[in-house]
Amino acid sequence: MIPDDEFIQSKDVPGPTKEEIRCLVMCKAGISPEDTVVDVGCGSGGLTLEAACRARKVIALDKNPEAINLTRKNLEKHGYHENVLLWEGDALNILEELESFQVLLVGGSSGDLSSIVTKGWSKLAPNGRIVVTSILMETRVEAVDVLKKLGTEPDVVEATIAKGKITPRGTMMMGRNPITIVSAVKGN
Ligand code: SAH
Repeated sequence: MIPDDEFIQSKDVPGPTKEEIRCLVMCKAGISPEDTVVDVGCGSGGLTLEAACRARKVIALDKNPEAINLTRKNLEKHGYHENVLLWEGDALNILEELESFQVLLVGGSSGDLSSIVTKGWSKLAPNGRIVVTSILMETRVEAVDVLKKLGTEPDVVEATIAKGKITPRGTMMMGRNPITIVSAVKGN
């Protein structure tokens, strides 16, 4: 995993997804070297970079041009740009254009989560995986509901990470926001 402080960051773009959460997302995504991964809402490129060093190809998209620029900078900084296609625009429109792929990561949806998951699911190859990362209560419920409607039983993990801060008197544990990771595997 790439340490959080090795990402170039911007106050105008969310992310990167914190290192410990990236670990869980990569664990659920089960990326193989032959896979094509689509990262919906690439933000600062946190998940895009992790996918880029594991997959054959990554398509990273974001509706915010600043996010596309920042992801590009982070890819170049780490030397992972060769197998990544960056695409600025709305997730639904872009998913419509794509051929099938093996892994779909969803980190942003702007109220369109059900449609994005449904469209993405229709493009997932057999045995493909979807991983939705959500910080809002409403989106975690929506992710579970839509995946159930698609006929699958999603795996739901809530992670609340606390990091130790070393102080002169001891190690103070500093809590971070809970994040829910909802994932599912498509059948054959
Ligand atoms: N996983 C990223 C952070 C994602 S933040 C990282 O590790 O760096 C969520 C991103 O989703 C934002 O950049 C936002 O612009 C994007 N987003 C939200 N809704 C979108 C949509 N409908 N289409 C494309 N991008 C979207």
